[in-house]
Amino acid sequence: MTDKRQAIALISGGLDSMLAARAVQEHGVHVEGINFYTGFCVEGHTHAIRRRDQARPKRNNALWVAEQLGIRLHIVDIIEEYKGVVLNPRHGYGANLNPCLDCKIFMVRKAYEWLQAHGFDFIVTGEVMGQRPMSQRRDTMPLVSRASGAADRLLRPLCARNLPPTLPERQGWVDRERLYDFSGRSRKPQIALAQRFGFEDYAQPAGGCCFLTDAQYSGKLSDLWQARGRRTYELDDIILLKVGRHIRPRPDFKLIVSREEGEGRFLQGYQGRMTSLSTQSHPGPLALIDGAPGPGDIELAARIVARYSKGRGAEKVELELRHPGGESRRLWVCPMRDEELPRAWIL
Ligand code: SF4
Repeated sequence: MTDKRQAIALISGGLDSMLAARAVQEHGVHVEGINFYTGFCVEGHTHAIRRRDQARPKRNNALWVAEQLGIRLHIVDIIEEYKGVVLNPRHGYGANLNPCLDCKIFMVRKAYEWLQAHGFDFIVTGEVMGQRPMSQRRDTMPLVSRASGAADRLLRPLCARNLPPTLPERQGWVDRERLYDFSGRSRKPQIALAQRFGFEDYAQPAGGCCFLTDAQYSGKLSDLWQARGRRTYELDDIILLKVGRHIRPRPDFKLIVSREEGEGRFLQGYQGRMTSLSTQSHPGPLALIDGAPGPGDIELAARIVARYSKGRGAEKVELELRHPGGESRRLWVCPMRDEELPRAWIL
């Protein structure tokens, strides 16, 4: 049994949460990390399968951060519960389908439940006032503390001195004077602190920690809801939205066309569940058919797939149409010409 105070730190895998956890370790607090898996995380998915991103390390950044900090990491699957946050955010969406404020409240609430179940003392996040337009504003940060139930057991070490003292500060579990007063969107203070702590390598997520901040991804998710006539999703749906070109020529089906070898291999894993098209006479992509095209639309789909093959300039391209049960047939089509492919079909 330790008499050290114990903190649970939200670890996204990015620099800020890494610095926040280390800043609290500096005060002699025992820190463990918690990472929530929503299915929308940017973490090691597309760059793990795409050949283009071979140079990037294929690692789970949250685990890697935990290793750098020398802390235990708890990875918690919240896929099902998180749907409520994405589908009905009480505080609305940000610039895209990112429900950042509800998301932050939800994650801090889950961390608070964990804290209560494990007898820890406080929660640590890497939030910086003014850094994100929705969840990290002067007026929304107290809301996150309140609405999550964590109240003043939520410590944000990187901007604590811009906020009223929390319980860990008032109790002397951490020294407020040795915490930070970062604010705004500049990354310079974080980079300087990383140097001071001796961190040379860290992930630099652009724009946000999940795909919901991405305009194109959000557009594909809206399209999925519209096509299915209901706002819901399964894990496979949101994973597939990260892969390939999505082309919807008709309301009742779309094509997911691999852009390169790595994506093609990844999509092969879905051939047992979805109908697919692949070029045979020429090197080309593998495409999954999501939905139910009418018999007359199969040729249309095949022509689009042929357009993305090496046979795009040929008169005819042969493709294989394969159903999930394994039965297949071959067909020859004229590749679609660029001017026949409306821009609006490409999601
Ligand atoms: S970017 Fe995504 S994971 Fe991060 S707070 Fe917003 S919705 Fe949540």
